[in-house]
Amino acid sequence: MNSERHIETWTRCLEILRDNLNEETFKTWFTPVRPISLEDQQLTIEVPSDFWREYIEEHFIGLLSKALRREIGPAASLVYKVRILDDFFIEQRPKAQRVHNAELPIPDAGEHYTGSVYAIPGLRKLNIEPCLNPVYTFANFIEGSCNRLARSAGESIASNPGRNTFNPLFVYGGPGLGKTHLAQAIGIAVKERFPEKVVLYVGANTFQNQYMNAACSAKSANNGNKVADFLRFYQLIDVLIIDDVQEFAEKKGTQSAFFHIFNYLHQSGKQLILTSDKPPVELQGLDQRLLSRFKWGLSAELLPPAYETRLAILKARCVREGVEIADEVLEFVARNVKSNIRELEGILFSLIAHASFNKQEITLDLAQRLVDKIVTDPKSEVTVGKIQEAVCNYFGISDELFLSKTRKREIVQARQIAMYLSRNLTKTSLSSIGAQIGGKDHATVLHACNTVGDLMDTDRSFRGFVHDIERSLSTPE
Ligand code: ADP
Ligand code: MG
Repeated sequence: MNSERHIETWTRCLEILRDNLNEETFKTWFTPVRPISLEDQQLTIEVPSDFWREYIEEHFIGLLSKALRREIGPAASLVYKVRILDDFFIEQRPKAQRVHNAELPIPDAGEHYTGSVYAIPGLRKLNIEPCLNPVYTFANFIEGSCNRLARSAGESIASNPGRNTFNPLFVYGGPGLGKTHLAQAIGIAVKERFPEKVVLYVGANTFQNQYMNAACSAKSANNGNKVADFLRFYQLIDVLIIDDVQEFAEKKGTQSAFFHIFNYLHQSGKQLILTSDKPPVELQGLDQRLLSRFKWGLSAELLPPAYETRLAILKARCVREGVEIADEVLEFVARNVKSNIRELEGILFSLIAHASFNKQEITLDLAQRLVDKIVTDPKSEVTVGKIQEAVCNYFGISDELFLSKTRKREIVQARQIAMYLSRNLTKTSLSSIGAQIGGKDHATVLHACNTVGDLMDTDRSFRGFVHDIERSLSTPE
């Protein structure tokens, strides 16, 4: 048998591809592909990553199958082998091509800061605006037991980004608890200590839009360049911060591109920092291979701050804003605004605004009125009725159906979840819960609580539903 047969066959296939694609596309996507073997009529090729495989499948498979059938025979088949270590993108491109293109995807400015990307011809590194908000520093991030682990991991990353045991750092927690602030503080600290390092903060939605733009323009121009540019751009980054990765749920193409970038950066000793509203095990609609990588480093939760931390945050914020507010007022606010820090700051700003608008002193009385108006203690407020409403909203069920006699599985399960949450989040008795949820007796409620408890232990996505609903109850938005 001719041991070079796979190479010859692949070379002839490449000629067909080259004749039918534009030169740039052909080079971008097929130069890094290597033939591995040809057995019977099965050709194995090696591609730099799984993303590559998907891209070839999506864009060139028609042409490629024709070429293979012509060169190998009617039963020709193709197998992809994904190369583990991929250093093709930057190292193997001719120098002149590395960085020359001012049209590299430009990260959106984000909500805080206007950024731009530009290339300096002849230099390998791009000068990339990190898109960091300068007030989100460690100095402004008050420490408390609610954030100690995440904060200290962040500080240690800032002194040694990349090759550390916190790679990736996965920070998660409910809204307004400081995920964005902490993630950016790490970026700012890295930039201060290592100005030459390329840091980029990007929201998951922005990343997704950039990818979609690249992929769509690639499709319409039958030109793979834009996606390759997108990937190459992200591969230049030393510290990549992606905020709110839960937004990647169900977005397969974006997840693939991110997977590819993640692998590349991680293997090259670059730092990844990710934030999310849920821990990796509860993230739904994300590819398993991504989730497993999220767990490689450290997952650290941000919890709602305790009273002392809330007070410290308020005091620090007053200093930053240059206002003086009596301790008793701040203590009152800290005692009564518990759910998250954004809300805490919100009350502080309303206080300042009211006082200056009405030329009033910031008094305890004013604080009481504002807090009453804006905040109701979410925990003590939860009722069976609110739980029912939250469950119905979450599953898109009408009240009538929920309270009807139907035995449809989804409805029964929704009722059971409502019973379970009512038992755990309210002081209502089992029989009263049953009476309010479709006129059931206390044994039915007890059975429901056990069933839900069991499912929570065994079924991850079920657990996700219940946590989501619970969260929606504790953070009214
Ligand atoms: P998340 O991204 O988790 O929704 P943010 O990072 O946007 O929350 O934080 C909400 C607000 O609370 C921001 O203004 C942020 O500066 C402030 N904040 C959060 N955590 C702290 C903290 N530990 N110390 C001081 N301010 C904080
Ligand atoms: Mg955020």
